[in-house]
Amino acid sequence: KAVGEKILRRRSLQMHDQQQAWQESPEGRRMLEFRRSLPAYKEKEAILSLLSRNQVVVISGETGCGKTTQIPQFILESEIESVRGAACNIICTQPRRISAMSVSERVAYERGEKLGESVGYKVRLEGMKGRDTHLLFCTTGILLRRLLADRNLTGVTHVIVDEIHERGMNEDFLLIVLKDLLPHRPEMKLILMSATLDSELFSSYFNGAPVMNIPGFTYPVRTHFLEDILEMTGYRLTTSNQIDDYGQERMWKMNKQVPRKRKSQIAYVVEDAIRAADFKDYSPQTQESLLCWNPDCIGFSLIEYILCMICENERPGAVLVFMTGWDDISTLKEKFLAHPVLGDPNRVLLLTCHGSMGSSEQRLIFEEPKDGVRKIVLATNIAETSITINDVVFVLDCGKAKETSYDALNNTPCLLPTWISKVSAQQRRGRAGRVQPGVCYHIYPRCVYDAFAEYQLPEILRTPLQSLCLQIKSLRLGSIPEFLSRALQSPEILAVQNAIEYLKIIGALDENENLTTLGRFFPLSLSLSLSLILGAIFNCLDPILTVAAGLSVRDPFLTPLDKKDLAEAAKSQFAGAYSDHLALIKAYEGWKDAELDMGGCEYCWKNFLSAQSMKAIDALRREFRCLLKDIGLVDSNTANCNLWSCDVNLIRAVICYGLYPGICAVVHNEKSFSLKTMEDGQVLLYSNSVNARETRIPYPWLLFNEKIKVNSVFLRDSTAVPDAVVLLFGGNLLKGDADGHLKMLGGYLEFFMEPPVADLYQCVKRELDDLIQR
Ligand code: ADP
Ligand code: MG
Repeated sequence: KAVGEKILRRRSLQMHDQQQAWQESPEGRRMLEFRRSLPAYKEKEAILSLLSRNQVVVISGETGCGKTTQIPQFILESEIESVRGAACNIICTQPRRISAMSVSERVAYERGEKLGESVGYKVRLEGMKGRDTHLLFCTTGILLRRLLADRNLTGVTHVIVDEIHERGMNEDFLLIVLKDLLPHRPEMKLILMSATLDSELFSSYFNGAPVMNIPGFTYPVRTHFLEDILEMTGYRLTTSNQIDDYGQERMWKMNKQVPRKRKSQIAYVVEDAIRAADFKDYSPQTQESLLCWNPDCIGFSLIEYILCMICENERPGAVLVFMTGWDDISTLKEKFLAHPVLGDPNRVLLLTCHGSMGSSEQRLIFEEPKDGVRKIVLATNIAETSITINDVVFVLDCGKAKETSYDALNNTPCLLPTWISKVSAQQRRGRAGRVQPGVCYHIYPRCVYDAFAEYQLPEILRTPLQSLCLQIKSLRLGSIPEFLSRALQSPEILAVQNAIEYLKIIGALDENENLTTLGRFFPLSLSLSLSLILGAIFNCLDPILTVAAGLSVRDPFLTPLDKKDLAEAAKSQFAGAYSDHLALIKAYEGWKDAELDMGGCEYCWKNFLSAQSMKAIDALRREFRCLLKDIGLVDSNTANCNLWSCDVNLIRAVICYGLYPGICAVVHNEKSFSLKTMEDGQVLLYSNSVNARETRIPYPWLLFNEKIKVNSVFLRDSTAVPDAVVLLFGGNLLKGDADGHLKMLGGYLEFFMEPPVADLYQCVKRELDDLIQR
């Protein structure tokens, strides 16, 4: 013990000297000067002293005041100064991987070090962390995984949970676990950080923990709503809320009066939005249609107009455009690249900022453009609070964000562009006033803003809870409903029951809601984990690895709006088996071959595939294979695992095992077919599914990984399967009740089809007998 302490002290002294040397160097001094200019720095002593007297502290402060980059650093520095550096172990969680990566890089830079020395990061599939890392930025998911291995977080001295105002599901979950852990680890400190002032909620959750508010400063931001913007473009709002339309295609040519044309779509959208001022008076349908912003008409052309106006007339300063989601961003970017002003690299540096960008792309966002070039960043709401781009002066806000939600009644997850909250709109606006007075364009009428909700609903109340429930069980946290009842805000009991039911059906939980051996294998990734196991057992592992990985990353098949036909044609080359999953396998195998010849990028480009997704699939496949190896299901002889990898029907069956209970019946009519699930009735296929282009599907069932409600219920990727496969591989479908009746499937068949179950069963039996004979 004495030797250990000696080493620790020596190492702490080294850290101390190193830190001092940096702070006294010219660059170090300059950096310190910058850091001192941040509002958080002024509170350094107060924060540290509060922390020394309390186990839990809640800190709030305006975005950009220095919470994320400074506060973990204060703690580290103070530990190093008191020669305890080598013993401290600070973990700071971020809701998104991209912020964990970019923040850690920044903090290392501020400390004059390379990433992976005293500061590191860890996100899924990537990380930079060394033996001497004492401050680790990671995603919330990574800390949850760590808890899985060590519930006491042995050795961790400080946990910082950042961006709690976002109320992500993982963060809410983590808070319950940490709340339970605190009494067992009295010397461990917990710091909660939030960009908004709702900190009282968190304080009272942690028995009145003290709240520290960092006073912030932002320059005034001139705010324009849609009315003002239309005024500039030549559209006018008359008293009767009618809009005069001077021609959409001329919008960005200011002051040029064009003959009045028939009222275009754009006018209707605006009118609708204005009428929506009083949401409550409208029928649910109208409200829903109002919420479906059509970015193709008004949104896109106005953004183009405003950007051109800024480029032509305004003072220097970067522009930040908040878009609904990644697909809008990519469409807009493609459109702009062909634009005479916005696509001119000598005038505009066009960048994107979204959750799935790579680290080199990330770095570009912070760089200063060349003189005379204006930086324009098209971003998702990730740039709202987690990432601060310093030189932003102009903000465009489309008013929407894609939000996952969940319809507990039908057990259907939804992904809809929804209006943001007032708090989000204020955050977005605030981004413009960080370095000098700024301008914000809200591309919606003021009355719509007035109707925004104050805050966004926490994720735990609006998304499916399957993986959360599985985590609760994996961490041995007791009864799921009891545990969740201790959350900041508890989810609906029906949503919890649905999740438990699902876990039982896929065999992760037994009848008594205990974790099964199977459930223990893949605690954090549900999708297709059963297929992986079966793929290993049936020696068709490679294709199943591809499918499982493919479902965990962003869809590799790209469909740019303006090249939809070409993209669909490209995908149809891979079709032919009535399965998107089999199409993915073909696409991946083609890519792998091309990649070996250094032609991966070209292959992706030709086939409208995302190279980024393909690489991610490649990495995930390796991770999954290792997992299977750890369990002992796969040995190092890969040839063995793939004896049956070419058997398409076997692959169909193995996929079925993992996708169940995502199943719908195919009902043929004269010309084509329709699809039905028991809960939703008619469902539709996404247009980029290979099955959407068929008029007949020669199988009675389609299995799907995910259904999503976007007006109607849509199925993402699907695979067609015969009766026999469903009967044999449809999870617990196979199980009968006490009288030997097939439970679920029976219900399904009676619901949808004649003949009744018995006939079908006979038919399957015949097929099986046949098979055995052969
Ligand atoms: P908060 O967490 O309070 O929103 P941050 O700690 O993320 O604030 O950022 C504080 C300041 O540090 C920002 O205002 C910005 O000026 C600067 N900053 C943060 N990250 C970077 C970076 N990667 N490059 C340059 N400056 C950065
Ligand atoms: Mg932050």
